[in-house]
Amino acid sequence: MENTQEPRLQVAMVPTPGMGHLIPLVELAKRLVYHHKFAVTFFVPSDGSSMKLQKQLLQSLPNSISTIFLPPVSFDDLPEDVKVETRIALSLTRSIPTLRDSFKVLTESTRVVAMVVDFFGMDAFAVAREFGIEPYIFFAGTAMVLSLIFHIPKLDEMFADEYRYLPEPVKLPGCVPVQGIDLIDPIQDRKNIAYQAVLSLCKGHRLAAGIMVNSFMDLEPGAFKALMDPTSNLPPICPVGPLWLDEQPSGSVLYVCFGSGGTLSQDQVNELAIGLETSRQRFLWVVKSPHDKATNATYFGVESIGDPFDFLPNGFLERTKGVGLVVPSWAPQAQILSHGSTGGFVTHCGWNSTLESIVHGVPLIAWPLYAEQRMNAVLLADDLQVALRVKAKENGVVGREDIAEYAKGLIAGEEGKLLRNRMQKLKDAAENVLSPDGSSTKSLAQMVEIWNNQ
Ligand code: UDP
Repeated sequence: MENTQEPRLQVAMVPTPGMGHLIPLVELAKRLVYHHKFAVTFFVPSDGSSMKLQKQLLQSLPNSISTIFLPPVSFDDLPEDVKVETRIALSLTRSIPTLRDSFKVLTESTRVVAMVVDFFGMDAFAVAREFGIEPYIFFAGTAMVLSLIFHIPKLDEMFADEYRYLPEPVKLPGCVPVQGIDLIDPIQDRKNIAYQAVLSLCKGHRLAAGIMVNSFMDLEPGAFKALMDPTSNLPPICPVGPLWLDEQPSGSVLYVCFGSGGTLSQDQVNELAIGLETSRQRFLWVVKSPHDKATNATYFGVESIGDPFDFLPNGFLERTKGVGLVVPSWAPQAQILSHGSTGGFVTHCGWNSTLESIVHGVPLIAWPLYAEQRMNAVLLADDLQVALRVKAKENGVVGREDIAEYAKGLIAGEEGKLLRNRMQKLKDAAENVLSPDGSSTKSLAQMVEIWNNQ
C-alpha cells in the first residue's frame, strides 16, 4: 500500500466517553496514518457533557483523521447514583442507531477494513458485522487486567460472594497475585447493574477479531505469554504500546494529578495539601474541587465543579509560593512528564498516565482511586517495583505525615533512587519495543498486514 495515488484504506474507531479512552485511541490513529498510510474516522458518542477537550484534541489531528460526533444520548431516566461504567456503556448502546447510519455512509464512500472499539464498545460489533467488517478491540489497560477480563466469567461461576471476601488472592496466568479487594471496581458490588454489564462485556471480548493492548512485552512478559498461548483459545492478542514517545531527562518536581476523572474528599485534599507543604519538596498539583461521595466525580465533565482553589487550606497558596504550583482542573500532562524538572508523579494509576510516566522514566507514588487502578498499583508496586503505594488510615484517608514521607522518599531518598533506576530500565525497554524492529512495532504491523489484505 505504498502507492499514494490509491485511496487510503479506512479504519473506523469508536471510543466511549472519557479522555483516558480517547487519548490512546488517537495515538493509535496517528500511528496508522503516519506509519501505515491508513485513513481513520472517529465516531464519538456523548451524553451531552462538555466535549471541549475532546474537540480540541480531535480538531488538532492531520487531515486523514476525521471525526463524526454522534448526537448526544439522554441519561434522564437513570438514577443519580448509577455507576460511571453503566453510563459509559449506555452512551454507546443508545448511540447504536445513529452509529449505524453514519457508518453506512462511510462504507459507501470508502473501503473500510476494520472497526476498532474500546473496552465498553462491544455493542458496535453488530454494526461492524452487518457491513461485513471485522471488529477489533483496543484495550487501553494492562495485559494483567485483560487477563482478568477473560477470567471474570469463571470467577462469577466459582464464587457466589463478593470478591473482596475471596480466601486466596486471584492468580492470573503469568501475573503477580491480586487480592480480591484490588480487582476492578465495577465487579466489587455484584448486586449493582454495572456488574452484569461488565460480565457481558467480558464475555464479548472473545468475539473480537483481535485485541490490541496498550502495553508491551518487556513490561508484562508473563501475562502476554499466557494470553498469546494458542491453547488459551483467545482472539489474537497484539501488544502495541506504549503509544507515546517524547523524551527528556528527569529531575526534582513532584507532579500530582489524579487523571481526568479522579476526585478526593475535602479531608483528603487538606491532608494532601499539608503533606506536600511539609515535605518541602517542589510540586505541581492539578487540583479539582473535592467530592465526598465519588472518587471519579469529573469523569464525564473533566472540568472541576466550582473553583478548586476555594477548597485548599487557608494560606496554603501563599506559603507554598515558589515551591509549589497549583493548576486548576487540567494540565498538559504529557508535556509535564517529559519536562526535565519532573522527578516523580503522584498518580491515580490510570494506565495512560502510567505509560506516559514510563516513557519518561518518572517513578511513581501510586494512589489508586477507582476502575482498574488498584490492579495497576499492584503491578507497579509489587511486581515492577517502580512505585510506592500509599496506605490509607482506617478512616480511608491518606495522612499528611505519610504523604510528606512518600514525597521526600521518592524525590530525595534512597528508595526513590532505586525506583528511578528501575523506571529508567523500563523507559529504555519502551523505547526498544517501538524501534523499527521492536516487538510492539512488529506486532502492530502484523495486524495492519491483515487489514491490507482484506
Ligand atoms: N491528562 C492531562 N491533564 C490532566 C489530567 C489528565 O493531560 O490534568 C491526560 C493524561 O495525560 C492521560 C489522560 O488524560 O493521557 C488520563 O488517562 P488515564 O488513563 O491516566 O486516567 P483516566 O483519566 O482515564 O482515569
